[in-house]
Amino acid sequence: MQQPSLFSPAELPDNLTPWEQADAADRLFAEVVFNRPLPAVFLYQVPPDLRDRVGPGRRIEAPFGAGNERLIGYCVGLTRSAPPGRSLKALTAVLDTRPLVDEHLLQLTRWIADRYLCGWGQVLEAVIPAGVKSRAGTRNVVRFHLADHARGSWPEWRLPPKQRAVLAVLAGSTEPMAIDQLSQAANCGVGPIHALRDRGLIIAERVRAAPRQVPEPPPEPVPAITLNAEQQRALTAILNAVRSSRHATFLLHGVTGSGKTEVYIRAIEEVVSYGRQAIVLVPEISLTPQTIRRFRRRFSAVAVLHSHMTDAERHAHWQQIAEGRVQVVVGARSAVFAPTPHLGLIVIDEEHETSFKQESTPRYHAREVARRRAEMERIPLVLGSATPTLESWLRVQRRQDGLLSLRHRVAELPLPPVVIVDVRHDPQLESGRAIGRALQSAMQQALRNDGQVILFLNLRGYAPVLLCRSCGHAVRCPDCDLTLTWHKQRGKALCHTCGHEADLPQWCPKCHRPGLRSLGWGTERLEQEVRRLFPQVSALRMDSDTMQARGSHAQALEAFRRGDVRILLGTQMIAKGLDFPNVTLVGVVDADTALRQPDLRARERTFQLLAQVAGRTGRSRRGGRVLVQTTCPDDPAIRYASRHDYLGFAADELRQRQTLRAPPFQTAARVILRSPREADAAREANRLAELLRTSAATQRQTVRVLGPAPCPVARSHGQFRYHLQLLADEIEAIRTVWLSVQPRFTLHKDVDMVVDVDPLSSR
Ligand code: ADP
Ligand code: ZN
Repeated sequence: MQQPSLFSPAELPDNLTPWEQADAADRLFAEVVFNRPLPAVFLYQVPPDLRDRVGPGRRIEAPFGAGNERLIGYCVGLTRSAPPGRSLKALTAVLDTRPLVDEHLLQLTRWIADRYLCGWGQVLEAVIPAGVKSRAGTRNVVRFHLADHARGSWPEWRLPPKQRAVLAVLAGSTEPMAIDQLSQAANCGVGPIHALRDRGLIIAERVRAAPRQVPEPPPEPVPAITLNAEQQRALTAILNAVRSSRHATFLLHGVTGSGKTEVYIRAIEEVVSYGRQAIVLVPEISLTPQTIRRFRRRFSAVAVLHSHMTDAERHAHWQQIAEGRVQVVVGARSAVFAPTPHLGLIVIDEEHETSFKQESTPRYHAREVARRRAEMERIPLVLGSATPTLESWLRVQRRQDGLLSLRHRVAELPLPPVVIVDVRHDPQLESGRAIGRALQSAMQQALRNDGQVILFLNLRGYAPVLLCRSCGHAVRCPDCDLTLTWHKQRGKALCHTCGHEADLPQWCPKCHRPGLRSLGWGTERLEQEVRRLFPQVSALRMDSDTMQARGSHAQALEAFRRGDVRILLGTQMIAKGLDFPNVTLVGVVDADTALRQPDLRARERTFQLLAQVAGRTGRSRRGGRVLVQTTCPDDPAIRYASRHDYLGFAADELRQRQTLRAPPFQTAARVILRSPREADAAREANRLAELLRTSAATQRQTVRVLGPAPCPVARSHGQFRYHLQLLADEIEAIRTVWLSVQPRFTLHKDVDMVVDVDPLSSR
């Protein structure tokens, strides 16, 4: 289907009269987009001296707006014709000697701008890594090291403290350091560094920063695996699509351990044998050494793209991928833009993970971008999950996508039994504990039988609420409409949204009487309780507070694997991917955390989480079970999860969503207006809603406009937040209405606006 475009054709006519064409023959115009939320392509004259250098996919500099501010933009096309009678401004520079993106990627980014209601230039700016733009790693950089005569003797010299700090850093470093690294590590400006260089105490050397190459160990021999019948059927369907060069999207539905990854790898092997490349998207949290090793064992040229890469590394990878020297790109969300020259297959593992949606402009979902890219390049897309999103499930129901099911675990191990424990009247919880009677005795039993235990609680810190004993007031973040979480070990109350840090107040901020108490549980408090209940047993907490140091994550898991640690407790960090045969009990301390969120997907998330957590046990002949503490034992999400019944859950939840006329039956766009002054945000939200409603009526578009209303988190980072929601059968209707309003809606200067198409967050 042809998508209606943001870009009105009137701006780029090609129906010129003959004399205009003759005149145009020696003229050249560049189509340019800027990093602004503008739904427009701008035309510029290309002066003669830039003609050989300009081209689509390169950055240019051009005067913009009434003040002729010089902006950097992207050239997205060239044309010989321009609308008659308009005098156009001229480009002032071309920045790149080569295109940064190819034609495919240009088209894909244009589609994203259309789909997610943002500027094409904003998309390009976000999608092209900074290191590629700056050509990081290809320039000479200056690095400093200690002068030989200073080594050893400097501690005796009398120098200003900042210069001493710089020397101390360099003395402790095995490598020469760049100036920004050095000033950061020594916590000083560049002044002391220059002073030391001028005195000859440190030496500056010019070195060529060589980007790290993609390591290419030879593939290791792997034991031959014969696919089972279901795997074989799935593989055949995917390969049929690969061989016939057509697009198809397949949903590969199977629990963990059902052999999905083996199917991806076989399909990729065939794609690679044709000299083509494959992209495998995984959630950032799954970019573990195990996953990477598994691909490296089977393919000789694997590029791994994760979020901790330096600009130079990113640039090197981008280059190697573009040159076709990489067979398989494995990476998080943004790897969907990898510039593979001859893509043959895209795989998205754990497609239900929310990290595939980008939460800043452009707010794209990697699954939808992958689908679009696969359509454009006429290749298959494979989505894998044990708990597919209802979006993907509905597409299968409507036969838009193919369903490939792996119904059994490879080793024929049964899924573990899941016991729901109703803790509404549990005496231990009533007395203020987190672990109820049933969970405690299950832990005792598992430990007695030499098993290991995983406890899951999705909240870090000691307690989510600090209450005044006298008036019941809860301590809140001064900048957000949220309570502060008490972190006992650090002795601080923290805002988990903005990072605000406060000491424990001595008095209630409201009634000014002394005495605060904490309410609810975080992992820190759970750890304390576990140590009290099982003083003889080694326990370890894993959350982002305890796992700050590099490598601590791997170390902790290794200790658990060895059996040195017998109780592992933590946040979602431990919900995924871990595979320890000796774990015979998984306890979900509070299944209601996700369920209580005022969110359309609260149930879906709860189901997914429970299914995932349950997958952490029963992974060997020893068996295992799951205990789920809840105060909503009758909630369908919990009931279906306890029976491992995805099909039942999906059918039930889809019925609900249909009744609500909610996604995935309708497409949604959420608009948030933020301002330091509540009245401004509210007024602008009302004005926008009014304009949208009127436009929907006059454009005869069936678009529901809900709101405006304060967001569930009505204030965040010091900004008041109002939102409204647009719902329609298709995004086209929303876009039509949006585009008719956008030019007429000039925001008040203190208000900013976020547009989120297919929002996953409703906070
Ligand atoms: P998933 O990706 O669904 O979690 P995997 O592909 O990782 O499943 O398979 C789980 C384990 O079973 C892996 O160790 C894999 O090597 C092995 N495996 C996969 N398919 C087969 C098969 N047909 N026969 C034997 N072992 C298999
Ligand atoms: Zn805050």
